[in-house]
Amino acid sequence: MSKPACYSTKAFSTASAASRLGPATIERRQPTATDVQIQIMYCGVCHSDLHYARNEWNFTQYPAVPGHEIVGKVTAIGAGVKKFKVGDTVGVGCLVDSCRTCPDCRSGFEQFCTAMTMTYGSTDKHLDAPTLGGYSQSIVVTEDFVLRMPANLSPAAAAPLLCAGITTYSPLRHWKVGPGQKVGIIGLGGLGHMGVKFARAFGAQVVLFTTSPGKVADAKRLGAHEVVVSTDADQMKAQADSFDFLLDAVSATHDLNAYFNLLKRDGNLVLIGAPEKPLPVAAFPLIFRRRSFSGSLIGGLPETQEMLDFCGTHNIVCDVEMIRMDQINEAYERMLKSDVKYRFVIDMTSLK
Ligand code: NAP
Ligand code: ZN
Ligand code: ZN
Repeated sequence: MSKPACYSTKAFSTASAASRLGPATIERRQPTATDVQIQIMYCGVCHSDLHYARNEWNFTQYPAVPGHEIVGKVTAIGAGVKKFKVGDTVGVGCLVDSCRTCPDCRSGFEQFCTAMTMTYGSTDKHLDAPTLGGYSQSIVVTEDFVLRMPANLSPAAAAPLLCAGITTYSPLRHWKVGPGQKVGIIGLGGLGHMGVKFARAFGAQVVLFTTSPGKVADAKRLGAHEVVVSTDADQMKAQADSFDFLLDAVSATHDLNAYFNLLKRDGNLVLIGAPEKPLPVAAFPLIFRRRSFSGSLIGGLPETQEMLDFCGTHNIVCDVEMIRMDQINEAYERMLKSDVKYRFVIDMTSLK
């Protein structure tokens, strides 16, 4: 395979797990017949960006450019592109390609394709080099992995829907969360705050669990009917055996078993957080009440578009704090202190 024609674009990258992110110039392929070239306006900051930048999952390829909550304007299209035109506002999430032929791809579950190409952290099929994410001015993506952004939503506030949105929407839909169910969301960060909004929009009774007493009022404003400060043993005990469904969006080590005990018989805890270290699971809290423990990974392309359209119809966006590109290292430190309200979004015009 000969290397395709490329162009240079500015980005923020990191050279090692211990480095800070800083300015860099990277190469993108010139759009091929089926590609869309996008000028990135906004990129959300996911905790996965931090895990990846610091090699906490042990698969980081350096230099690394994180970022997979991308919204921008189409600046060029290949001759065969049908869905988009120059000037459209579009989104790109965690995936930029997949095999297209396996049973998962054919069912619209590209996130489970064993040959999927992630926006960062995979090998780029065109360049035979690591994929580089959205902390950059421009990206080129095959049109099938580009999403339409609803026109009525603020592009900056909608950017985190591309990961935080779909990652919470998908399990709530898959397990049919809705009216008559008591649902708990664990952790009020980027994912958690969207979990609260979606669970509420789907008609469930919503309880938010937080380690941050200062977030109680916000959680109610975001849609929680009730808020439990999880470090308070009495508040936790009062919730025992009462939940149909728990969605765990915590980024760090925490006690899963304490949450299993809050599920009813046959209740299910779905893990979407991806902490660096394994979480111990005790047998008794699961076997005594026939409880389930499951996981969920982002969402496929059709469901991501469905989620965006749902947000357009119901006017759902993320609560964001705008930052400049050069504030990213500070934003990571704040994220580690759970000091995010509730998603940082980079204004990419600040990358000069
Ligand atoms: P985030 O914005 O940093 O939020 C994480 C929240 O977890 C914090 O705000 C905090 O909420 C809580 N928390 C943090 N440390 C804690 C601790 N030691 N004990 C208990 N609670 C703690 O992160 P995010 O972007 O939402 O991502 C959350 C996790 O999901 C990350 O591990 C990320 O990699 C993963 N993720 C997974 C998928 C997927 O497809 N499954 C997709 C995207 C992200 P409170 O202050 O309310 O306690
Ligand atoms: Zn993410
Ligand atoms: Zn596939």
